[in-house]
Amino acid sequence: MTERIDGHTLLIGLMAYPIRHSMSPTMHNNAFAKLGLNYAYLAFEVGNDKLGDAVNAIRTLDMRGSNISMPNKQKVIQYLDKLSPAAKLNNAVNTIVNDNGVLTGYTTDGTGFMKSLEDEGLNILGKKMVLSGAGGAGTPIAIQAALDGVKEISLFNRDDPSWENAERNVKIINEETKCKATLYHLEDQEVFKRELSDCAIYCDATGVGMKPLEDLSLVNDPSWFHKDMIVYDTVYSPRETKLMKIAKSAGVEHVFNGLGMMLEQGAEAFKLWTDKDMPIDYIRELIFSDDDKK
Ligand code: NAD
Repeated sequence: MTERIDGHTLLIGLMAYPIRHSMSPTMHNNAFAKLGLNYAYLAFEVGNDKLGDAVNAIRTLDMRGSNISMPNKQKVIQYLDKLSPAAKLNNAVNTIVNDNGVLTGYTTDGTGFMKSLEDEGLNILGKKMVLSGAGGAGTPIAIQAALDGVKEISLFNRDDPSWENAERNVKIINEETKCKATLYHLEDQEVFKRELSDCAIYCDATGVGMKPLEDLSLVNDPSWFHKDMIVYDTVYSPRETKLMKIAKSAGVEHVFNGLGMMLEQGAEAFKLWTDKDMPIDYIRELIFSDDDKK
């Protein structure tokens, strides 16, 4: 790494809090090294309080850009000059590109999710999706799936502060896309079971299954699943969540964790900054072989 850094190295940041656990610096720095690109990617622990100064520093230091994660994905918008159409619809940004002092915000989580399915040779366009969660992951997944042509989305959220966000997501999808979205209470288990019975894909974007909720799953009865559906958990640590185990026990063939989405959202940001394709198979191999993260 040190051999690559010189007076011309372009800096890319990651601004979030907490962030020390992130795999993004490993992913991007290894990809830069593999392609011989003169960039460096560093994580900066920045919360809402210092975000304005930190984003201004992208201009001051002539950084190439930054990733943005929780709790800054929405708050960052006020400091940017432009937004991509998807970032506007999501009202959230996870990637900033600096073009000569003009900062544009993008969101690559939704496209990352859709691309990860394409990588597996799976097509959900024109089909029905059941989705739980309407936060930083659930929102871009729902909006991108609708923009790309998923026919119907049944969104389930529990009665908590993100319910309002879920209402907003459904409204935007119904107004701005051809997809028909309906919001249901997660507590309404009979409806949840019914909606799962004829869907092409169930995606859990709630974080249930990840520490400290690693012993939990929103679906506990394997009979709620059917073999030819896709079950997708946005969690990638642990690599196999309780939901994934239950889906496999039901004979579901296409069961995924969030690694593919994580890789593809990173690859799209990488392309925006460098105009080069991330060597994704190389990076996947590198991350998959890291047993500590499993
Ligand atoms: P968030 O806090 O913004 O939203 C959480 C959502 O889950 C809300 O809709 C909330 O109502 C729901 N929720 C939370 N706890 C719940 C519970 N116990 N029961 C039912 N619903 C519950 O979080 P986020 O940023 O959207 O992250 C959610 C998950 O997605 C996390 O596991 C995160 O690691 C993962 N994620 C993965 C990627 C990826 O690239 N694979 C990207 C972003 C987030």
